Amino acid sequence: MAVCFQLCRIPALGVDLSSSEPPSLSRIIGRKPLVLRCEASSSSSSAVEAAEFDAKAFRHNLTRSKNYNRKGFGHKEETMELMNREYTSDIIKTLKENGNEYTWGNVTVKLAEAFGFCWGVERAVQIAYEARKQFPTEKIWITNEIIHNPTVNKRLEEMEVKTIPIEEGQKQFDIVDRGDVVILPAFGAAVEEMLALSERSVQIVDTTCPWVSKVWNMVEKHKRGDYTSIIHGKYGHEETTATASFAGKYLIVKNIKEATYVCDYILGGALDGSSSTREAFLEKFGHAASKGFDPDTDLIKVGIANQTTMLKGETEEIGKLLERTLMRKYGVENVNNHFMAFNTICDATQERQDAMYKLVDEKLDLMLVIGGWNSSNTSHLQEIAEDRGIPSYWIDSERRIGPGNKIAYKLNHGELVEKENWLPKGPITIGVTSGASTPDKVVEDVLVKVFDLKREELLQLA
Ligand code: SF4
Repeated sequence: MAVCFQLCRIPALGVDLSSSEPPSLSRIIGRKPLVLRCEASSSSSSAVEAAEFDAKAFRHNLTRSKNYNRKGFGHKEETMELMNREYTSDIIKTLKENGNEYTWGNVTVKLAEAFGFCWGVERAVQIAYEARKQFPTEKIWITNEIIHNPTVNKRLEEMEVKTIPIEEGQKQFDIVDRGDVVILPAFGAAVEEMLALSERSVQIVDTTCPWVSKVWNMVEKHKRGDYTSIIHGKYGHEETTATASFAGKYLIVKNIKEATYVCDYILGGALDGSSSTREAFLEKFGHAASKGFDPDTDLIKVGIANQTTMLKGETEEIGKLLERTLMRKYGVENVNNHFMAFNTICDATQERQDAMYKLVDEKLDLMLVIGGWNSSNTSHLQEIAEDRGIPSYWIDSERRIGPGNKIAYKLNHGELVEKENWLPKGPITIGVTSGASTPDKVVEDVLVKVFDLKREELLQLA
């Protein structure tokens, strides 16, 4: 049975920031009694509903409790050595030593200038390795995949780091016993999950990337100013779910098309006429908005935030569109009272996208985009190649290649495609990049498979 806080009246207590005890509900609620419902594994649709609930104070208190760690346990050197052995690649080393371009046989590989493991992912995996070393006999759980990469996730499974099971859409937190260790992944965890865990007196190892917590700070700022957070992200993605849980009022838009609909509604249909009634708005966005969201009253003051791995240009476009819309509605002189912007695209995402734009300008026969099929940042790298019309194959491991000259790959919108004879005959130039959660070793395994296929082709010709 899932842990579930029922509707309850909780007497008011202040936050004790000096305590090292993990914060409980009774210590994080504001001065007034309030109704609070927390479903540990519900979507982020304001499972913590009460306006008085201070998620920031809760997080602040949690991070100072004795059962919480986000810095590792002093085993960095040896865990990094182990990771280097498991995840690095000689082929990538050769490419880097040769200006990111090298020819093996009849295959020239051009590697993006920025690719692969970002520091946030490396840090998260390394802290998880440290947790295993620090707690060799304890049960270790993780609330979600630590990152979106099957190779790394399998490795953690081998290290007996288990994912908290889900039944009928509910995370089964009651499987976690007092004294167990629970890892929060790089994308973070929703505030109600943190609450559920802190109530169970477990050791929390928080690997949330600081870039993600920066976005949480931003939506908390929106909340304090009574702005609705417009989150550019994918509904249901762990990071967006966590971010929404820290927001007050929020609306998740996945792309410029949805943002245009919202702006058209704000302007009463005067933008492009794509929106219609309040009911139609709620039908379209009800699942991706905070509980009780009303487009007539909750789009007067808005702030922009994003899932850190979205396409940077699109986040900027959405921000500008919202700003222009609110200027048009309330006047240029009043825009600051209606719109709050802040760039929360992380550097790593930006660098990988910029490098990809540069790479697709080169003469390439095809692109290989390597990364988990549920990795948002990898999908955007694939999107850039597809937009340029370059044959681009998004695969998560070398197992997608073969038998023979065949490949199973994903398109950026998620469609799975199989293709025969995907590798052209004769000398070829391949562009290569990998998502922020992809170890170099996975890229190497893919390239080795390509080299083998091309070698076979040469042998058949001989
Ligand atoms: S992609 Fe950015 S936000 Fe995500 S883990 Fe890496 S550094 Fe952090």
